Amino acid sequence: MEPLTPPLVLLHPDQRVGTDMARWRKNGGGAALIRTVRDPAALRAEMRKAELRGLGGSGFPVWRKWDAVAGEAANPDKYLVVNGNEDEPGTFKDRMLLEETPHQVIEGAVVSALAIGANRIVFYINPDMGRSVAVMRTAVEHWQNSDLLSLASTALGRPLELALTPSSGHYIGGEETAALEWIEGRFPFPRGKPPYPAQKGVLGCPTLINNVETLANVPHIAVHGAEWFRALGKGIGAGTKLYSLSGDVLYPGVFELPMGTPLRELIFTHGGGLLSGKPLKAVFTGGPSNTLLTPADLDVALDFDSLHERGSALGTGAMIVISEGTGIVKRVAEYERFFAHSSCGQCPPCKTGTATISRLLDLIDTGRGTAADLGTLKNLCALLPGSGRCHLVNGAVKLLESAFHHFHDEFHQALR
Ligand code: SF4
Repeated sequence: MEPLTPPLVLLHPDQRVGTDMARWRKNGGGAALIRTVRDPAALRAEMRKAELRGLGGSGFPVWRKWDAVAGEAANPDKYLVVNGNEDEPGTFKDRMLLEETPHQVIEGAVVSALAIGANRIVFYINPDMGRSVAVMRTAVEHWQNSDLLSLASTALGRPLELALTPSSGHYIGGEETAALEWIEGRFPFPRGKPPYPAQKGVLGCPTLINNVETLANVPHIAVHGAEWFRALGKGIGAGTKLYSLSGDVLYPGVFELPMGTPLRELIFTHGGGLLSGKPLKAVFTGGPSNTLLTPADLDVALDFDSLHERGSALGTGAMIVISEGTGIVKRVAEYERFFAHSSCGQCPPCKTGTATISRLLDLIDTGRGTAADLGTLKNLCALLPGSGRCHLVNGAVKLLESAFHHFHDEFHQALR
């Protein structure tokens, strides 16, 4: 396989062969597995050097999770969960990988399982992405009958089992401990941590949970090495990133670009600029649970650390563009309704807090809000962070606070 320049995980269009395993192998598919079976531990060392981060939104260094699971005894089993629950507004990258490059995703999971000593892989996919589930089912069946899986099992020293479990379809089901609950047959309520999945995951076994895009990168690192991978990024970023671009842009879609590509380049070069021709007003980033970006941020590098320094986050890489003339209050109210609807309700501050935020924003947006309502919202922003088991409530507050910060006047203008 020749070294690739971006697109990396999206592959070149003629290499996106769907479930056709023979064509995938003809294009070099399987090379990462053949290399990894010789020395699975070497892949772990390479991952550390590659600096791959969790691309489902966490940005957590992948090698740390891998080392934590690899260090646990497999007694009786060790799991790898492929998180394909993708449900954040504006995020639609993983479904593209699952539907067009399923064998790449499976190979990434299989070599990762070898590197950490996992003998069970669960593909956990949002059933709302019906085609993704169907394609992956077929691709998993191909693997179950292939010499590649036999090769992996031999290297592992016991059968490597693949299974597909549709998730519940809830947004909160993408949280890693919620995924464990669902896989074990219960409603996906996030668990308290510790213990972390690496110590006590599926059925109490050590479990690695990685996102689809994260795992799709692994075969390329296995074949081409960490140094090559890191050099694909710009500035401090390593590798590439899938950005889901939507909203008021000429060419919405999934773009694979070097990690660290400036926001300006994403919107104006690859996205073709604003469809309406109006000036840019703001960008909701990473699924809208982050701090808004404004035109002052156009030159920020889209990588985890650069956005974190600005008080925002890369998240899943979703960028929802809005132009001047779009009401911020209405848009924020829509997203806060989503958070209120998505709260699983087990933490009272999150349940009542997100519902109150949503209700008050609806009042303000429809001209029925008062200055007291605005004061209540600001109080909630101070009270709610850190009050839930997962990050949902923090995300809801982050978005609201940032909208207040940048567009305070619009909230006042909308009051009764
Ligand atoms: Fe559920 Fe909200 Fe608590 Fe998260 S913070 S576990 S969504 S109630």
